[in-house]
Amino acid sequence: MSFSHFNLSSAIQHKIKLKNFTKPTPIQEKVIPLVLDKKDVMAKAQTGSGKSASFILPLVQMIAHAQYEGKAKIRALVLTPTRELTQQVAEDFEYFAPNRVKVVSVIGGEQLGAQMLAIQKGCDIVVATSGRLLEIIRKGQINLTQVQYFVLDEADKMLGLGFEEELKALLKDMPSVRQNLLFSATYPKKVVELSAKITSNYIEVSIESEEATVQNIHQRVIEVHKDNRGPLLRYLIEKEAYEQVLVFMSGKRAADNIAMKFRKYGFKAEAFHGDLCQDERNFTLKTYKEKKIKVLFATDIAARGSSSVICSRISSELKS
Ligand code: AMP
Repeated sequence: MSFSHFNLSSAIQHKIKLKNFTKPTPIQEKVIPLVLDKKDVMAKAQTGSGKSASFILPLVQMIAHAQYEGKAKIRALVLTPTRELTQQVAEDFEYFAPNRVKVVSVIGGEQLGAQMLAIQKGCDIVVATSGRLLEIIRKGQINLTQVQYFVLDEADKMLGLGFEEELKALLKDMPSVRQNLLFSATYPKKVVELSAKITSNYIEVSIESEEATVQNIHQRVIEVHKDNRGPLLRYLIEKEAYEQVLVFMSGKRAADNIAMKFRKYGFKAEAFHGDLCQDERNFTLKTYKEKKIKVLFATDIAARGSSSVICSRISSELKS
């Protein structure tokens, strides 16, 4: 199947081509037509599956082609679990949407005033982390009464402390009739309960795991004793001449420690986790994208962003 199969405008198709997306991923094949058909969707999709574009492309299509009077009002609200994912999704919306469609990202750790101003000037799409969005709602500085599309990305990562309460407050502010799109890599009971609060009538979509990621991501498993992981990684970096590597870690301290160790071995290595302030997080990611860091040890706050980065061997596939 090709992207021309969907009813997307020629402007969007042109941008898809410029991105070198040659054909839709399996999740895109299933989700894009459903979204365009105004269905609620619950999709089991992982980072790397192309899930973001599966909602971004049809939403841009529908928002860009609707006729709206007067100042822009928020038509789409997208919630994501991390600041980095929010920024990335907002950038993708901006890339695919025409200039007149205004996109604002709302995240903690950056100036509240500037975000509120951007919202008040009028915008069509808000991409947000829930905590900061709620702060703005409580100040009465955002109007969600015109929201037609509500997206919850990586729902299973949102189940942390207090999210249910935040969601309740959000749902109160949005119209009850809207299109809902939920994405989650896993379906624990809590996600199912959460989805029931958002929509009662959704179509479930999932794909076989072997076709779960976009084609230019290669995955490989190496079994290794815990103590040998560092030496193995150093060996692989040298032997396979990896240009850049992103390593996911379970804890912040472990990320700090191993980055320090790699620096001792002469690598340009850094840690990336939630204890860094937002400026440091932005700076680290920017430096990584500029290829000034060779090995980045990250906890899952980075569990996307430059997603081709994610799974593995990063090299020329690294997307800016
Ligand atoms: P995601 O699963 O949304 O995090 O996307 C994973 C990566 O795949 C991102 O870098 C996307 O830009 C890229 N991508 C999305 N759709 C396609 C496609 N149809 N073909 C190739 N790459 C894609």
